[in-house]
Amino acid sequence: MNIQLTFDYELFFGKRAGSVEKCLIEPTNALLTIFQRYGIQATFFVDAGYLLKLKELAPQFQSLQNDLDAVANQLQAIQVQGSSIQLHIHPHWEKARYQNGNWVFDMENCYKLSDFNQGEMEEIVRKYKACLDLYSTVPTTVFRAGGWCIQPFQRLMKVFKELKIQVDSSVIPNVQFASEQYDFDFTTAPQKARYTFENDVCVEDKNGFFTEYPIASFRYSPLFYWRLYGLGRLFPSQHKMMGDGLFLTQPKRKNTQLSQFTWNHVSCDGFYATKMKAALKSALHNEQQGIVIIGHPKGMTQFSLKKLAAFCKQYHNIHAFKALSINT
Ligand SMILES: [Zn+2]
Repeated sequence: MNIQLTFDYELFFGKRAGSVEKCLIEPTNALLTIFQRYGIQATFFVDAGYLLKLKELAPQFQSLQNDLDAVANQLQAIQVQGSSIQLHIHPHWEKARYQNGNWVFDMENCYKLSDFNQGEMEEIVRKYKACLDLYSTVPTTVFRAGGWCIQPFQRLMKVFKELKIQVDSSVIPNVQFASEQYDFDFTTAPQKARYTFENDVCVEDKNGFFTEYPIASFRYSPLFYWRLYGLGRLFPSQHKMMGDGLFLTQPKRKNTQLSQFTWNHVSCDGFYATKMKAALKSALHNEQQGIVIIGHPKGMTQFSLKKLAAFCKQYHNIHAFKALSINT
């Protein structure tokens, strides 16, 4: 079985973006220490719009130059460790401003790629990938959409082929969510660890150009979310996120999670890490060839780092922990 640990390498997008040190550098270093110890590889989906914005504004602000240097060094360290960096796109960076030492986001009509017209959208993908490739030892070929908003994929198909982005890991089978910013529906996605597709990420096409490695999903109980939302307040030393920013809030989704069973990703963030083993066992039971687990450096806690280290320790000799690629 292939276990693909994936991390969206990004700041927060709510009222406070958080610091590079707390959201990226410190937690990622902790992750790399674990991967180094057990000789395993992971995939880091780098928020390339952020990287491009840093590069553009660094000449004007010394603080951003320092952030860029720290991020660039870490992207190199990730690859030296054997893990890979791949393309993650949050296009709201198009409208982001840097004011009084803070990022200010305007999410209106720019949270997801499909908010832009065809020409703008393709240009964003081209320039974000070109920027990320400056920091990658090999051209990037794997994609994860910001907020999982990859639909309608038909609009991205042409530019992805042009740029040889052949692999995607944005789909979370069984999960759907629509709000002011988000819009995705993966309820009809194939229940497979890997499949090829052409113009729709939820429809398998044996002759399709693209390969999907869906993020594994799990059915969570309301009790799980009561614990998840409560533990950070009760036991901050173990359960407070390492990242020091604020999420873009989705109150409706939170209410649903607290009141009924809901599908969501299998993740190593915070309290989600308690379900990794159960999800792996279920994938083995279903004889799947792999499982993709998502995480965020900013979302790691002391608790989840311990859980993840124990998970790697237990399974690194039994299963293959590999970075995502067309060949895994
Ligand atoms: Zn993201």
